[in-house]
Amino acid sequence: MNESLQNDIIGSFGEGSYSQSEAVLQAYARDCLPLTTRLMLSGAVSDPPAAVILPENADDVAKAFEISRKHEVPIVCYGGGSGVCGGAAAGKGWIVLDVKRMDRILEIDEVSQTATAETGINGALLEEKLNARGYTLGHFPSSIMCSTLGGWLAARSSGQMSTKYGSIEHMCIGLDAVMFDGSRYSSARVPRTSLGPDFKELLIGSEGTLGVITSATLNLKCLPESREFRAYHFASLADAIAAMRGILQAGIKPSAMRLYDKLDTRISSLGKEHSEDKKPSPVKAVAKFVREHMPFVYTEALEKGFDNARLLNELADRYSKALLLILVFDGAVEIAKAEEAKARAIVGTRGVDLGPKPAEDWLKKRYDVSFKLSRVFEIGAFAETLEVATTWANLENLYAKVKAALAESAIVLAHFSHAYNSGCNIYFTFAAYEPAPAKVEELYYDLVERALSACHDVGGTVAHHHGVGYTKRKWMSLEHGPAERMLRAMKREFDPKNLLNPGKMISD
Ligand SMILES: Cc1cc2nc3c(=O)[nH]c(=O)nc-3n(C[C@H](O)[C@H](O)[C@H](O)COP(=O)(O)OP(=O)(O)OC[C@H]3O[C@@H](n4cnc5c(N)ncnc54)[C@H](O)[C@@H]3O)c2cc1C
Repeated sequence: MNESLQNDIIGSFGEGSYSQSEAVLQAYARDCLPLTTRLMLSGAVSDPPAAVILPENADDVAKAFEISRKHEVPIVCYGGGSGVCGGAAAGKGWIVLDVKRMDRILEIDEVSQTATAETGINGALLEEKLNARGYTLGHFPSSIMCSTLGGWLAARSSGQMSTKYGSIEHMCIGLDAVMFDGSRYSSARVPRTSLGPDFKELLIGSEGTLGVITSATLNLKCLPESREFRAYHFASLADAIAAMRGILQAGIKPSAMRLYDKLDTRISSLGKEHSEDKKPSPVKAVAKFVREHMPFVYTEALEKGFDNARLLNELADRYSKALLLILVFDGAVEIAKAEEAKARAIVGTRGVDLGPKPAEDWLKKRYDVSFKLSRVFEIGAFAETLEVATTWANLENLYAKVKAALAESAIVLAHFSHAYNSGCNIYFTFAAYEPAPAKVEELYYDLVERALSACHDVGGTVAHHHGVGYTKRKWMSLEHGPAERMLRAMKREFDPKNLLNPGKMISD
């Protein structure tokens, strides 16, 4: 970092208020994009940013922007760093603005049932504090323990219970932001306005490319009086989708509604379908022996398996018998019970009633799975998730096309969640094996490209809730067409030299 930049940072923030430690800077060079995690585990070192500043309020954010503009040094806002598309990743020599010290709840308005909080607050802590007052935000992304309110807003996040409580844009009734040119934006705190476009919506989903959202006012709900659970097995995807659609279009809003495809049903182990796995089997005993005593043979067998991923996918389908649907209903006792009963009538004989247990188990384990992915990286493979969405009429088609696009080179599983009256999101997880670090990136981008092209070709959206970052930039113009120019125009207006999070959302 040059001396004059360093002096300005010290002048504005003081000696101990920023970090230049190599370990710290390396950590900020990436977010949770699985590709960079895989490369890091192979020993890749990133070009680090120059410094990390920890602002305490909106004035500090404005000061940091001033320094960035004066020295023409790029700057990026960093929340929890849990984004999975590279949105918060800093480039070489950038300034990082880690907003986690801006973490106060400023007000809880019990009459209007709203809370106003600074945006660096950790998601799980925010929810905990609201729960202590008898409220919930109703926003439960799987990353709740490592993401922030600002990151949720900036990346347009959606939680596990969005079907009832909505996504983050439905919860935010107002926000404050420091725009990159130093101007302050403060939207009205109102349930709705028709005074022109909803300008706060221009910041929700802008991934820190126009300014930093410093506080937000959120709709709260009372903690649910009761919860009802139910789960079903279905023999076919068509039947399961028809049941989900039937429930929603009858006006019932389960808080959670998740359908696991056959392989995801086995892996999630919620439906207990694979109790036969516990039977002793000579093949399993041999596999265990080979893994423990001949790891080189095991690795080669693994490689050969991934060389023929299509076969692995076909076998997984053949030996997995059912799809699991879990349902959770929140609300006043009579309402939750009535919704569950009505949903049961709609499922009718299409599904096998498994009772409440699998759904109860899901609620207990609902944050577990995401954090197990790191084990996949440790064996030289990588896993990625893609969240695509479309209308009910197009849902099976989208599922089949994206799965086929990946199945040649990766093991593919999916669940259907974030369901609406008109359609649903499909959350694909795929795992591929490429031990040579130099080839990982090529395979990774090839697979993502194939899957997202397949989605785009059938009219789905390529990003239901993970945002754009730099990995999905190409799809911004493909999906939005000329409308993408509006974002470019706003960017030019507030940041003509393209210094705030450059290269994110839109290509330079
Ligand atoms: C294990 C795991 C599970 C996940 N599950 C979900 C899920 O269920 N649902 C979901 O929606 N997402 C999920 N994600 C993705 C991620 O958690 C979300 O995108 C989340 O909203 C990012 O929040 P963050 O605070 O970590 O933001 P960061 O990753 O720090 O930043 C994301 C983007 O927002 C910008 N930004 C951050 N704070 C601000 C601010 N105050 N003002 C302006 N811009 C800002 C950054 O510059 C960056 O461009 C998951 C990620 C992981 C790793």
